[in-house]
Amino acid sequence: MTERIGFIGLGIMGRPMARNLMKAGFTLTVWNRSQPGIDELVKEGAAEGSGPADVARRSDVVISIVGDSPDVEEVALGPGGIIEGAHRGLVHLDMTTMSPAVTRRIAERLGEAGVEMLDAPVSGGQQGATDGTLSIMVGGREETLERCRPVLEAMGRKLVYCGPSGAGQTVKLCNQIAVALTNLGMCEALVFAARSGIDPRVMIEAVSAGAGTSWQMENLAPRIVERDFRPGFKVAHQGKDLRLALEAAEKVSSPLPGTGLVQQMFAALETDGLGEEGTQALVKALERLADLEVQ
Ligand code: NAP
Repeated sequence: MTERIGFIGLGIMGRPMARNLMKAGFTLTVWNRSQPGIDELVKEGAAEGSGPADVARRSDVVISIVGDSPDVEEVALGPGGIIEGAHRGLVHLDMTTMSPAVTRRIAERLGEAGVEMLDAPVSGGQQGATDGTLSIMVGGREETLERCRPVLEAMGRKLVYCGPSGAGQTVKLCNQIAVALTNLGMCEALVFAARSGIDPRVMIEAVSAGAGTSWQMENLAPRIVERDFRPGFKVAHQGKDLRLALEAAEKVSSPLPGTGLVQQMFAALETDGLGEEGTQALVKALERLADLEVQ
């Protein structure tokens, strides 16, 4: 049986992910808070739902990829939420990056209404979403993952079962810790090169071929040199993820000194009104300290 898919949240990530599901032959009913995302997908063949409950009624698997924990709570449990469209066999596949603890709470409430929830956050950015090569970290019941495998494989290249409800989100926060600290290392290398009179392009070329390379060095550093701060992944979302990591770490007494530092720098960027820029804007916090601009 081919699952009927519902898709909620048509932002930077959601739009290409929904497109890949249609390419794989799934029928889609979509809904987004604002209309432009819906219109784009409807033009390409999706049906329009009138809200999360309606999308749930018309689907076997409802995917959401929105902003943060309160957004998923609203979409799943709020007035007109997925829970109001609950029916036998419905699965809520949430791909937002959000709190593991709130995930478990939502999964429990949905479970009482007979809806299975999987947390399935992703890594790979806008490009990975477009290419269908995301890494997907899954928490919840393994049988439910197996049922949803063809759906997930239409969006990602690597699926990893992480454990019970919330475990996918915990692994995603590990990813975000590593991503943010690598981003900081790349930005510090750029600023140091510029201060030392080295052409940043030369530094990027040499370091990218050695042990200092990273996704950030290869993909974000060239954008900084071009002064291209358009978002693939927004500063506001990275700040949110680091706050979630620090909250979760406190509960298990795990020290995250580097994460605390880089979270403060992202907070400063948000205070400066840069929340909608891409995470490569982290360099701007260092540029202010160094009183120079990497060009
Ligand atoms: P985005 O471009 O800001 O899109 C978010 C989408 O969710 C928008 O369509 C927004 O609707 C919708 N939305 C937000 N709050 C909502 C609510 N309360 N009710 C209904 N719809 C709501 O963000 P994104 O980059 O696609 O990221 C989405 C999620 O994926 C975030 O949790 C992010 O941390 C995670 N993520 C992002 C990346 C990346 O590289 N971008 C990578 C991995 C994971 P409107 O159109 O009305 O604003």
